[in-house]
Amino acid sequence: MSTEMDKARKRLFDGLRKEIAAERVLDAMERVPRELFVPEASRHLSYEDIPLPIGEGQTISQPYIVALMTDALEIGDEDTVLELGTGSGYQAAILSLLARKVLSTERIASLVEEAGRLLTSLGYDNVEVRLDGSELGCPEEAPFDAIMVTAAAPTLPRVLLGQMAQGGRLVIPVGSQQEQGLVKVTRIDDGYSISNLGSCRFVPLLGRGAWDDF
Ligand code: SAH
Repeated sequence: MSTEMDKARKRLFDGLRKEIAAERVLDAMERVPRELFVPEASRHLSYEDIPLPIGEGQTISQPYIVALMTDALEIGDEDTVLELGTGSGYQAAILSLLARKVLSTERIASLVEEAGRLLTSLGYDNVEVRLDGSELGCPEEAPFDAIMVTAAAPTLPRVLLGQMAQGGRLVIPVGSQQEQGLVKVTRIDDGYSISNLGSCRFVPLLGRGAWDDF
């Protein structure tokens, strides 16, 4: 890592520590080399607090949003986690350091392959990357203790609520294709409690139960 990048990295985490209290989450983020998950051309921007293009019209999320969403999931080290939207694999790598097992789905085959290969080569061996199937998420492997959706849905997808374990948490951007609210759902007893974590902007979640139905 260049000295410049190292400085930017320190600045980024100093900043995140002012906004995010969960040291366990920040510590996991600090252990993942974000520069390896971004394309060569934007590598010098790896530790700026901004989203970056990763090809195929998709983006790797802004570190602050990654920290916020990961924190909200309250992941324990025995948890099984589902991510929708593998993208670069960066978020999956962070989740893998916090959970027992991570399953991450992605609808673009080239990203499934690239992210899968990168995660394996870096030794994140409790992550599995899968091509998205006919239903959102992965009903056949449910229930999950935590579900993170890193693409924006028009409404809260019912099929994902059904994949939450008792006491499970789900974090998902819900709104228009331009702007969304970050929604946290917790499954309690026979119901769900919902809270809003602020606004955000993600690429659309496509497929049945998401934008394809609108
Ligand atoms: N979490 C990623 C960034 C995600 S960008 C990272 O850390 O880099 C959003 C991703 O969601 C895109 O790659 C897009 O192809 C994917 N996506 C869109 N709809 C999806 C669906 N129904 N299931 C799984 N992935 C989906």
